[in-house]
Order: sequence, then structure tokens, then C-alpha cells
Amino acid sequence: MTSASAASEAPLTFDELAQIDIARLKGVGDAKHRALNEYGIQDVLELLMTYPRRWVDRTNQQRVADASAGEEVLLVVEVRGVEERQMRNRRKMVNVRVGDGTGTLRITFFNQPWRARQLTVGLVVAIHGKVEDYRGSLQMTNPIVDLIGDRTGRIVPIYPQSEKVRITTWELAALVDQALRRCDSRGIADPVSENDRERLGLIGRFDALKSIHGPESMAAATAARRRLAFDELLRVQVELVRRKRELERTSRGIQHVVGGELVERFVSTLPFPLTGAQQRAIAEISSDMVSPQPMHRLLQGDVGAGKTIVAVAALLNAVQGGHQGALMAPTEVLAEQHGTGVRALLDGLAVMDNDNLFGERPLRVELLTNRVTGQDRRDVLAGLADGSVDLVIGTHALIQDGVEFASLGAVVVDEQHRFGVEQRAALRAKSDEVVPDLLVMTATPIPRTAAMTVYGDLDVSALDELPPGRTPIDTHWAAGPLAEASVWASVRDEVAAGRQAYVVCPLIEESENLEVASAEETFEQLVGGELSELRVGLLHGRMSSADKERTMDAFRARDIDVLVATTVIEVGVDVPNATVMVVLDADRFGIAQLHQLRGRVGRGEHASSCWLVTSSEEANPRIDALVASTDGFELAEIDLELRGEGTLMSTAQKGRSDLRLASLRRDRELIEQAREVAFRIIDEDPELTNSEVLRSEIALLLSEREGDYLTKS
Ligand code: ADP
Ligand code: MG
Repeated sequence: MTSASAASEAPLTFDELAQIDIARLKGVGDAKHRALNEYGIQDVLELLMTYPRRWVDRTNQQRVADASAGEEVLLVVEVRGVEERQMRNRRKMVNVRVGDGTGTLRITFFNQPWRARQLTVGLVVAIHGKVEDYRGSLQMTNPIVDLIGDRTGRIVPIYPQSEKVRITTWELAALVDQALRRCDSRGIADPVSENDRERLGLIGRFDALKSIHGPESMAAATAARRRLAFDELLRVQVELVRRKRELERTSRGIQHVVGGELVERFVSTLPFPLTGAQQRAIAEISSDMVSPQPMHRLLQGDVGAGKTIVAVAALLNAVQGGHQGALMAPTEVLAEQHGTGVRALLDGLAVMDNDNLFGERPLRVELLTNRVTGQDRRDVLAGLADGSVDLVIGTHALIQDGVEFASLGAVVVDEQHRFGVEQRAALRAKSDEVVPDLLVMTATPIPRTAAMTVYGDLDVSALDELPPGRTPIDTHWAAGPLAEASVWASVRDEVAAGRQAYVVCPLIEESENLEVASAEETFEQLVGGELSELRVGLLHGRMSSADKERTMDAFRARDIDVLVATTVIEVGVDVPNATVMVVLDADRFGIAQLHQLRGRVGRGEHASSCWLVTSSEEANPRIDALVASTDGFELAEIDLELRGEGTLMSTAQKGRSDLRLASLRRDRELIEQAREVAFRIIDEDPELTNSEVLRSEIALLLSEREGDYLTKS
């Protein structure tokens, strides 16, 4: 007939499925419609993308009569009786009697009072857990319970349930069945070519959707999950790669001349050889810098890995060709610290100067923070504008406050957390001709594949090798008041031996005022008690920068033995004589942050130690991890594992996320495959003109915010 009918024969796209209201399915009346909406399902696409949380594999099911103590079993049973009991410690216990015709069993739930409401007599449930012997009869404690209703079938999908919205898992399953059957005649469009599917061992999308909701076997469920997770990752990667390529196309960078004398001279003045990792990173950066596209690279390296040297080499690449370099730190204290460090590194270095009789002049490095005022400030600003300042070190204010550069060639940003999209835009606007090369440094190690997803539009270099001769940091956990007393004894011993210590006060995320108050209190207590014989200083975020700098100077000069501080010392502070780090209420910090803090010690020749103090003696896997490992990358993996699936992204954003199945932890290989396919797709078809299905899915499923978040660095 007409072309309209031809179109309607084509496989259904996600766009079309998203336009079918859920109310159009049979059995969805007003009440159910409202409930589905509340649950978050408005349309058929959302229904199909509501994936089971898990599956109950009834091929493994056992009869109660065959279950014996000590075994992990899956039983499908009927609830026979429910009894709630108050225990002495005011906690509640729920006892449930269940049976399946071959026998009965007692289930005990501790601390789950809601089970008494959930499990009503007559209900059929699947329970999964370990059978125990309780005074001669069988029982289970806190098993996994799934309400499966009258679902038969070998493998029963279990959908996420919420306490508020009552939609049973079998109601959802029935609606999904119905929706999938209605799709049968046309099928569902697949954005991945048959070629790629075959090569990567991926099943077709329609099959995957059918299989994830009603698998024939657990292997089929796994294959379905893999395929649909790939789709999620592909959408993200295609969007990231598209942005990356677009940025490269639309911006012109400086083709720096690298490999010249300046960097060589700098490296030769260092009192140590570069590590292999430093050499590799410098080579990667140099090859970015010679290319006509602006560099956009992330330099990852554990604390103490030697990122500063790499950064300085990058900046000197720019200076060598007559351009300028800028190093930006997140805070004034850090900028000042970098200023001191970098000046020391570059002391005595000269740059080419044709206007000069000797053909050379000293390299000019300046600091520009809020503390640089008056004539000094005017001098620095004039020098930046006329090109006589080669390197400038400051905070982000450097690129925001209308500072003019003669020719800004390279920018290094230390610690990426606070360098956002806006700053990047400001950087691009700094020069209307060319975009300076950008290197972002971070000491928060992110597992490689996660970095590829979160910072997918950046290239990544990793300093995965520490300079030799580092003294490992001995980390201990001090749980409870007695243990804490021994921590202070150890601090006194170290100070007596000529060393210095940091004491980090509890993190209070909710309020900086509270945090400062608590630091002041800790300071008073220590000065009046455990550390009364020592010279103790205080550093916190509410002090003026002048006071902060005075305190840091005194600590560096060894006029202070113990520095009590809030997390302002988290990054960048470098005092090799400090060998003890005490973190109070360490259970309030995350793994990454504790690792960062710990990196403030172990920077010199003396053995260092770190005490993680908690008032509770309860088991704490994060603290265990820090005691067991000093490898930042390993810790990052553990962190990801402890925090669970997908949190790397979902914590930073609310609402619908497209990453429902994909796991940064489990799906490493899939992420790499998706990225590779994404590069091929975009390089063949930069604006996805010929990939309408994929393009519309990205537009539909990746919100603006999500995309921005992904490129937030
Ligand atoms: P990061 O910024 O990565 O935490 P830094 O750049 O501050 O680390 O370096 C930490 C310390 O290690 C500095 O004192 C620095 O001089 C030293 N360092 C850097 N590279 C090397 C190297 N290749 N060999 C020995 N020491 C090094
Ligand atoms: Mg550093």
C-alpha cells in the first residue's frame, strides 16, 4: 500500500514504545494506572526497562522434607502462621511458620518487624537461605524472601518492590508478558549491527528483552543482561565519543614544539631519575601537545606518585615555544604551596630570549592569589599580558577574573573535583583563536574502566608506579578509648624522636561551622591533655589565608610539632618530616578520602604511620581495607565494590539513570567493547545521520544532565 504501512511494519523503536501509554494494556484500570505511575512506569518502554532485580530459579527448588541443616536451599512454601515477639533489647523478632505439603519449617526474622505485615497466612513465597537446626527442628534466620504469587514457570523474575506502592512482582510480570506479545509481529529495533553482535557474542535486542523478563535458563538470563547492559554502555560511550570528536573538530589548539632543550634541562636538574610511569605520561602529554587539537587529558596518580614533575614538564613544553603556562590549584593554600615547590624545582632554569644579549633570560614564575595585591599584583598582571611571565600559579580565579595572557599555551589543573564545565568554558574563552592544552591531575584513583565511563571524553594517563625508596605507611585501627590513648602515646614518642604529626578532626559534611567548632574543641582538649607538653597548631577552613599560611610555615619550619586540622590538609600538603597521621572518627570518611589523608605522611626517609581512630569497635570493612592495602588503585576497586553497583554515577544525580544493568565493576570488558564500537560508529558517522535508531535512543534516554555529568571534569 502506502509508505505509511511500510513504516508500521518496521521494528518498533524505543521512541514508539515510549509513546504507548501503559493504560492501553489490558487489565490496567484507573487504580492500577495510578499505582504504575507512582511506581515510575508511564509507558510501555519504561515497563520493558523495569528489569527484574533477580530471578528465582525453580529448577533448583527443594522440598522441605529433603532439606537438612547446614544446607543452602531454595524452597517454595505457603505461609501458615505469623507471630511477632518483643525481645529484651527492645528489638522485634518475627516468627513465621511455613510449609509445602512435605513438611514445615520455622523462619525467624530479626530486626525486620515489617515482615509481620508482609507475610500473611496463605501467601506463597520463595525463600532462600541456610537451614539450621533449632532444638531438633529446622529453621531459617533472615532468609531472602520473594513473593512469587501463582507464577509457575521454571525461572520466575522478581521485580523491585517498594513499601509504598503495592504492585506485585507477578502483576508486573504479566504486564510485561502482554507488552512483549504485542510487539511480536513487528519486533523491536536493534541499533547494534549483526556483524558487531556476532563478533562480540551479543544476542539480539528483542530476544534479550524477552529473556531478561522470562528466561528459559539462568544462562539465558545472563546473556540477556549482558546484551542490555551493552546497550546502556554503548549509548553513554557514543555520546561521550561524539562530544570528544566534536570538541576536537571545532577547536584549534597550539602545535607545540616539544622535545626541546628546556624540558631536558629541567629533568637533568632533578636529583632523581624519572620513574617509568612519569616518562610514559610525559611522552603521552607531549604527543598530545604537538598535535593541532587541544590536549584534554587526565593524569591519574596516587598521592606521592610524582604528578608535579609531569605537570611542570607539560608547562615547560609550552614555555619553550614562547607560550605561557598556568598551574591552578583548588585552594589558595595549595596554590601557595605549589608556588613554593615549583619555584624550587625550576630555580636556575633559563629560557631563550632573542632580545637579550646572552640569548637567554631566567624563567619567570609568579604566584597570583588573592594575597598578591597592590603593586605586586599589577606587576604580575602586566607580565602575563606582555608575555614576560612564563609560568603562573594560582587558583581557578586565574582564568575567571579577566586575567589577560599574551599567549596561554598550557593549563594544568590540580585536583579535578572542583574544575567543572563552566571553568572549561572559561578556559576556551580565554583566547578566541586557539584553545590552550589542558591537563587535569587527580590523586583520586579511579579504576581505569570507570574512568573511561565517567571521564569518557578525556584521555587518561596513569602514574601507576611510585618513586623508589618510599617508606610504606603502617596503618592501624584504634577502636575505642583505650586504643586511642595509645595513639597519643605514639604521637609523643614520634615527636620526641624529632618527627611531626597531623591530627585530622572529624568530617562534618553538613556544616563547616560545626566542623570548625569540633576542630577547635579537639585542639583545646589535646593542648590541655594528652599533648600538653607539645607545640600544637590549629588549621581550619575559616581562618584567613594569611593565618593559614603562617601556621603552615611554622609547621614546615618545625616550630609546630602537631598540626590539628580539618580536611583542609587533604590535598597537596608536603612536609617530609611529618610521619604520623591521626584521623579522628575515621568511620565518617570514605576510603578515597582516608587514603588521600594518609598520603600526607610517608613522604620522607622516616618510617611513617597512620592511626584511624573510631569510637565504635564495630567491624568496618572500609577501615579494614585501608589497614590491609596502601595501593590506591586497589583501594579504589574495593571502594567501588563496597559502595555497590553504579553508585559512581547515581550518587551525583537523582532521577532516571540509563545505567540500570551495567556495572562499572563487573562489566569491564563490556565497557571497553562499547567504547571501541562507539569510536567506530562516530568516526564513520560523526553526527549519527545514518544511525537514526541509536541517535533517537540517546536523545530519549540520556538526559542533558546525565551527559553533562559524564563530562563534568
Ligand atoms: P603527587 O602530587 O603525585 O602527590 P608530588 O609530585 O608532590 O606527588 O611528589 C611527591 C614527592 O616525590 C616530591 O617530594 C617529589 O620531589 C618526589 N618525586 C617525584 N618524582 C620522583 C622520582 N622519580 N623519584 C624520586 N622522587 C620523586
Ligand atoms: Mg600533588
